[in-house]
Amino acid sequence: RQGHPQLGEMGFFKYFFLLLAIAIGGGAAWISGKRVAMTDMPQMIALYNGMGGGAAGAIAAVELGGKEGHAGIALALAVLGGIIGSVSFSGSLIAFGKLQELIKKPVRFPNQHWLNLGLFIITLLLGLHIVSQGGEASGFVIVLFFLLALALGVSMTLPIGGADMPVVISLYNALTGLAVAFEGYVLSNAAMIIAGTVVGAAGTLLTQLMARAMNRPISNVLFSNFGGTGEAAGPTVSGGSLKPIEPSDAAVLMAYANKVIIVPGYGMAVAQAQHKVWELCQLLIARGVTVKFAIHPVAGRMPGHMNVLLAEAGVPYDIIYDLEEINSEFPSADAALVIGANDVVNPMARTNPESPIYGMPILNVDQAKNVLVIKRGKGTGFSGIENALFTLDNTRMLYGDGQEMAAQLIAMIKEQ
Ligand code: NDP
Repeated sequence: RQGHPQLGEMGFFKYFFLLLAIAIGGGAAWISGKRVAMTDMPQMIALYNGMGGGAAGAIAAVELGGKEGHAGIALALAVLGGIIGSVSFSGSLIAFGKLQELIKKPVRFPNQHWLNLGLFIITLLLGLHIVSQGGEASGFVIVLFFLLALALGVSMTLPIGGADMPVVISLYNALTGLAVAFEGYVLSNAAMIIAGTVVGAAGTLLTQLMARAMNRPISNVLFSNFGGTGEAAGPTVSGGSLKPIEPSDAAVLMAYANKVIIVPGYGMAVAQAQHKVWELCQLLIARGVTVKFAIHPVAGRMPGHMNVLLAEAGVPYDIIYDLEEINSEFPSADAALVIGANDVVNPMARTNPESPIYGMPILNVDQAKNVLVIKRGKGTGFSGIENALFTLDNTRMLYGDGQEMAAQLIAMIKEQ
């Protein structure tokens, strides 16, 4: 495009710095991508998505502040991309902080939504002012515009609970794509327009799928201040008693069952217990027990999290079932083994209209004849909500680390 130097016109040093930047950024991403634990993937996505939004925002800043003199649609899109990219950048960094547990509590105060609305309107008005000036807006206005957009990302994300962060990241991912596509138009760069649109569309679909799996509209995720801190602390259920069981008794129960349904959750990922769980299942199958895996669409910390772990352990696809396929089978199961899952098996979603997760589709584990729950302590799940499953008459608790407990069950079943 006129006014922008083509690569050929750029000197050697520009090429050099361009390649150096790609090598440093690409290298850092390659190493961290190799090293990151599966359970830490969401925060890594948040961080890198934030970088994308930041890059789009930075392009907007250069284009608005530079001598290019954009006008019309290009100027409007530069401004829009600037807002969206900046919100996505600062919001993603807050999401990263929450998932990494650097920010432990949602920051909430009265009239917070009004403050956010005010920030949004002022930023938008500043954006309109920049557009109306036809690219001649003062540096002060442009700086203020970006500062407010960044503040909006922070203040929008701070009150949202940790359990909703994966959805928020996916939404910001979609926004980053949109911002990149807008800035691609400004720079007349077809690759950026195509890549940005693809990311925007994929992110939007993923956001919708996750929200639908939780039976909550996006507005509810963004504005309901749902869920606690993401810390697994505090009592699991007020009232009612939790009944522990010895691994030897649990092993007998499963070894002599006709049908066992395994329900994995985030705790199985933390414990890296998938290999032991599959070993346990193979023992049961060899004894003639029918074993099935039940996967909730949002079990774990991102869609498909459990499927990836089970595939890694070698579990065949034909014994892995989605929520709709398996839910009617729980009443005929002699035992349901819940390993590190919590919110996705909470019957309060079905039975208690007061519960914040009321209406969320859950795995009907409580309908199994016997329920065995492996978890380390009495803490709540990601959303910080009490779980009524744990105090039911047919539920027994196997307290311990997922992998360690699966190993104990294997040893006991071998003795049967
Ligand atoms: P939860 O976070 O609800 O529960 C995890 C459980 O694992 C806890 O009860 C914890 O209890 C236990 N646990 C943790 N570490 C271990 C360990 N080493 N060994 C054994 N148990 C362990 O996970 P779920 O998978 O049930 O639910 C997913 C949550 O994520 C839901 O709130 C869902 O809405 C949310 N979410 C998921 C999305 C996705 O795409 N997957 C998207 C949006 C939200 P304890 O500490 O006592 O061990």
